[in-house]
Amino acid sequence: MTDTLIIRGGRVIDPANGIDKVADLVVSGGKVAGLDTEAPAGAQVVEAEGAIVTPGLIDLHTHVYWGGTSLGVDPDQYALKSACTTLVDAGSAGPGNYPGFAKHIIEPAYSRVLAYIHVSFAGIYAFGDGMRVGESDNMRLLAAREAATVARANPDTVIGIKVRIGRHASGASGIMPLDVALDVADDTGLPLMVHIDEPPPSYGEVVSRLRKGDVLTHCFRPFPNAPMHGDGRVRDEVRAARERGVLFDIGHGQGSFAWKSARAMLAEGFRPDVISSDVHAFCINGPAHDNLRVMDKFRALGWTLPEVVEAASIAPARAIRRDDLGHLGKGATGDVSVFREVSGDFALDDVRGEVVQHDSRLEPVGIAVDGVWKAA
Ligand SMILES: [Zn+2]
Repeated sequence: MTDTLIIRGGRVIDPANGIDKVADLVVSGGKVAGLDTEAPAGAQVVEAEGAIVTPGLIDLHTHVYWGGTSLGVDPDQYALKSACTTLVDAGSAGPGNYPGFAKHIIEPAYSRVLAYIHVSFAGIYAFGDGMRVGESDNMRLLAAREAATVARANPDTVIGIKVRIGRHASGASGIMPLDVALDVADDTGLPLMVHIDEPPPSYGEVVSRLRKGDVLTHCFRPFPNAPMHGDGRVRDEVRAARERGVLFDIGHGQGSFAWKSARAMLAEGFRPDVISSDVHAFCINGPAHDNLRVMDKFRALGWTLPEVVEAASIAPARAIRRDDLGHLGKGATGDVSVFREVSGDFALDDVRGEVVQHDSRLEPVGIAVDGVWKAA
């Protein structure tokens, strides 16, 4: 056995490098060696004929602090179910409990877990069945200095700052927690990811404060606080934010993806930058399921396979500023996703119960993280 892995005969889709062809992908020493390149005898071979081989998919919005928060799911089970190699946790942990997240989840996980650290001290601490207390509601919990300190102490895993804003998450504090989080992002030089739920504050107010490189998640949420007006026109503040370089992320979750919003936005030519699941304990069995299923929803909206792969690989890699991830260029980190397109008649439900039928779906085959293969 060598430390070389050959994923043989699959359709390799690498949007960052403009590649879409059948090839053998070789990963050696934990790095991408190339396509159809020479490999030593005794290399591990994964047969991928008829399957799709892509850069390791990155789910930009997950909740994987299993056991430490009530919304967490097990990262490695989820990685295999979704064929994602990198799971970016979106603020499950804050500075008060980040060390536990790092030691008990990130370190032992086979999958690559990175994090937006929450600006609220204990992260999303009370999101359960029949128990929902917004962690941004009580301003006393907002811990700017502590969040900045813990972010600086964990540069390998903290890739950004998180805050949740809306009637449910920030309640009477309104938009104030966003200003605290922006201050932390500015001080640390990290991008911010902002959740938006029902108003107040309004979608326009929230997105207007974001800077180039910041991420608005739940971007195609339903009314109230949809990204478009009732007649389908995209809000002016949304277009202005895109002009500035603000990134728009799906973050499907339990309440944040509506067919109606998606159809209206795409009809106006406004596409999301990133497709992510916002997987957590209360949406993993539907309606979000996993990020392959969210990619299926965009395929049902007319996107091609390379387009959905791009929005779930190189686009999130750029959002988290990791140029070694999200592509299969020589020397890139050896993260690879393998999945199949299976024909059938599949029901795809949104958060409002609208169902769209589609004639195929993506199913996981396996993933390699740092060149180490695991079958789904
Ligand atoms: Zn979330």
